[in-house]
Amino acid sequence: MTEPVHEAARHGPVTRALVRWLMRPARVAAVETLSPRFRLVDIEGEALRDVTWAAGQKIQVSVGGGLSTRTYTPVMWDAGRGRTRLLAFAHGDGLGSRWVSSLRAGDRCQFFGPRRSLDLSALAAPIALFGDETSFGLATLLREDPPTAGAIQTFEVSDAAEARAVLASIGIDQATLIERRADDGHLVAAADEVLRCIGSGADVALTGRAPSIQRVGRALKAAGVRSTRIRTKAYWAPGKTGLD
Ligand SMILES: Cc1cc2nc3c(=O)[nH]c(=O)nc-3n(C[C@H](O)[C@H](O)[C@H](O)COP(=O)(O)OP(=O)(O)OC[C@H]3O[C@@H](n4cnc5c(N)ncnc54)[C@H](O)[C@@H]3O)c2cc1C
Repeated sequence: MTEPVHEAARHGPVTRALVRWLMRPARVAAVETLSPRFRLVDIEGEALRDVTWAAGQKIQVSVGGGLSTRTYTPVMWDAGRGRTRLLAFAHGDGLGSRWVSSLRAGDRCQFFGPRRSLDLSALAAPIALFGDETSFGLATLLREDPPTAGAIQTFEVSDAAEARAVLASIGIDQATLIERRADDGHLVAAADEVLRCIGSGADVALTGRAPSIQRVGRALKAAGVRSTRIRTKAYWAPGKTGLD
């Protein structure tokens, strides 16, 4: 959001009024470029103070100054200071990816939330997280959140070298990375890895790409894992825009 005022001005008065009434206004406090496609984004403002937030919840950020949104998972929320943090992946050329790539400290932004999304409260630690690049924020949070500390992570990724470097920069160096294959053949290894974690007592959170979640979820059920030990949340699906 390089020119936020002009972005917002492209929309009519009704949309601008709705954005003002419905969304929390905030300011980008800092942007750290972790790699060409990953950004750690700190957002702050009065409207972020005294907010009740739980790990796994989402915010929906206005992309383009209007009511079009893309969804991200806060990595932390400091309700005293009025500050939150996102770990955002710019996968391509969608509105969200462009928003992430163009963010600069000092930009204004607006968002809905935090709102319910992935409910981790009933899962027993350690949690075995399966996801992808969009789940790195959740992984950070699971590592730091005391009730779930000790999470075990398996990620399917498009570029293992980039993913490994990004994860190392946020202090995650034990994750299993499985590179995507076009025929999804890699998901057999992913399901085996998650099952191995379950065998050592972990409950499971499946996040990220919808077809991968379905495939791994089916493998877990076929292996007899009780559904009460599994939570799922699709973060994106091929061909769908702005899922959620
Ligand atoms: C509850 C929830 C929490 C989320 N948390 C995070 C988070 O913390 N960090 C984060 O980076 N993302 C997160 N996401 C995912 C993010 O909202 C999507 O990836 C979003 O689609 C990106 O918007 P876009 O405009 O770039 O792409 P869109 O315009 O929405 O999508 C265009 C096309 O790109 C493809 N696509 C979408 N996402 C991806 C992807 N990640 N990799 C490859 N291809 C993709 C699809 O085929 C889609 O049709 C979350 C999503 C949900 C629902």
